[in-house]
Amino acid sequence: MSNQNILEVSDLTKHFKAGRNQVVHAVDGVSFTLEKGKTLGLVGESGCGKSSCARTIIRIYDVTAGKILLDGTDITNMKQKELKPLRKNMQMIFQDPYASLNARMTVRDIIAEPLIAHGIVKNKEDANDLVYPMLERVGLTKEHAGRYAHEFSGGQRQRVGIARALVLKPQLVICDEPISALDVSIQAQVINLLKDYQDEKGIAYLFIAHDLSMVRYVSDQVGVMYLGQMVELSDADDIYKNPLHPYTKGLLGSIPIANPKLARQKEKSGIEGDIPSPVNPPKGCRFHTRCPYAKPECSEAVPEAKYVDGKHMVACHLY
Ligand code: SF4
Repeated sequence: MSNQNILEVSDLTKHFKAGRNQVVHAVDGVSFTLEKGKTLGLVGESGCGKSSCARTIIRIYDVTAGKILLDGTDITNMKQKELKPLRKNMQMIFQDPYASLNARMTVRDIIAEPLIAHGIVKNKEDANDLVYPMLERVGLTKEHAGRYAHEFSGGQRQRVGIARALVLKPQLVICDEPISALDVSIQAQVINLLKDYQDEKGIAYLFIAHDLSMVRYVSDQVGVMYLGQMVELSDADDIYKNPLHPYTKGLLGSIPIANPKLARQKEKSGIEGDIPSPVNPPKGCRFHTRCPYAKPECSEAVPEAKYVDGKHMVACHLY
């Protein structure tokens, strides 16, 4: 029987050592599943652990604890050598299209490299049959193949990064803030490209962003992270129409609103203060230092993940 989920993440934990006796709690007990062909948006402020979570899932980082199943295969502690054939199925698009492309390689070579590394083609000449159609698929042309990354705009570079990830025909692509570094005018084009490709090929995206407005259009499900933990997770419609966690409500309050009446309500719901250090996260609910609804038990007891209406998960003592 084939798997319905391309990705199952249970209790994923990633800690980093930081100096003597200090530990950064980057990811702490995060769980979710991602169905084949669907998109899960993972959101939260900078420093909430979403990028560390993505990099641990794709095994750029080793796992401290928990479990990762990729299409039913446990990759949690796989050695890099064993992982290599599976990487074809799990690719990443990075935030910074300037830093993520090798400046000394032509676009053709950048896209051909993973094809050769995974043994799909023998050499660069053979790769052209796959590289050229992929360039066209992402809105570039054959003529772009001989140029270098520095000759392109930010949006074009991101298209090259997308082509490099998609040319391997993965079932899962982790998009780590792929549009944050781009001009607003280009963002929608890149999102549409990713969405059209998904509709065509049925691939799944784990889409990371720092605010909820960015993932609204692309996500089937949305998970909200705060200081290394998943505080709310549900279908995208539920999250936008009926946010439960005070942090999610605060994030939604920070979305620009054209209607002045709604904008005034928004001002009341903004999140005050900065995210605390993940080196010594607050006791109890990690959001209690900024939560307008905090009560005494919030600084003592860790709120458990509860399911409201069957599939809407929230971790908060109010529920
Ligand atoms: Fe606020 Fe308490 Fe809920 Fe945390 S558990 S979000 S502090 S009400």
